[in-house]
Amino acid sequence: MEPHVRGQLEGLSLDRQRPLIVTDADEVVAYFIAGLEKFLLRNGHWLDLKSFAITGNIRRQGSNEISTQPQVKEMLGNFFAEDTELLDPVEGAAEALQALSARAQIIVLSNVEPKVHAARHRWLRRHGMDYPLIANSGSKGLPLRYLSEQIDAPVFFLDDLPPHLDAVAEHASRVFLLHFIADKRLAALVGPAQNCQLHTSNWTEARSFIDTKLDDMGY
Ligand SMILES: [Mg+2]
Repeated sequence: MEPHVRGQLEGLSLDRQRPLIVTDADEVVAYFIAGLEKFLLRNGHWLDLKSFAITGNIRRQGSNEISTQPQVKEMLGNFFAEDTELLDPVEGAAEALQALSARAQIIVLSNVEPKVHAARHRWLRRHGMDYPLIANSGSKGLPLRYLSEQIDAPVFFLDDLPPHLDAVAEHASRVFLLHFIADKRLAALVGPAQNCQLHTSNWTEARSFIDTKLDDMGY
């Protein structure tokens, strides 16, 4: 785990006895791919969503030439710099988290560079999700292990990317895993991640799953 991530995690004030919900941002509470498509269209490109990947699927308008990996990296950097605050919120996310916050602590764990942290946090606040935001880097397995060790109550983790869910299953096996992909086109391209208790694109379902687990476990 990188020092800047550990520093943010250590700065959280957590209640050991209270359940914890750790949610990703992009494609869980924010429409990332739809926002990226708008950005690309504005900038002479388009996303050919034929697989669950960005690199290899961005094409130049007109020629349809596939953008190279360095070009994609640059475009994603510009996208985060310019459009982080323009993303659409996922329907029901703010309401579900608000309701769940009556019985659980909530943290947003998002893989964004530290320089994007402030814009992303403003976006969360503006859309009714004023929760602590951790700007993570790389795998989410070790951050979830750290967080689950701070809590003696149930811990839940929501993410769209199977590698993050797999890493949490490996490093923090007691965490309940929800595979959440907001964009239905993407959800159709990627099967349910292994070890996940729920695969959904719907916050009503996610909330109901968490509520039921907490009820069953007496929280
Ligand atoms: Mg995501």
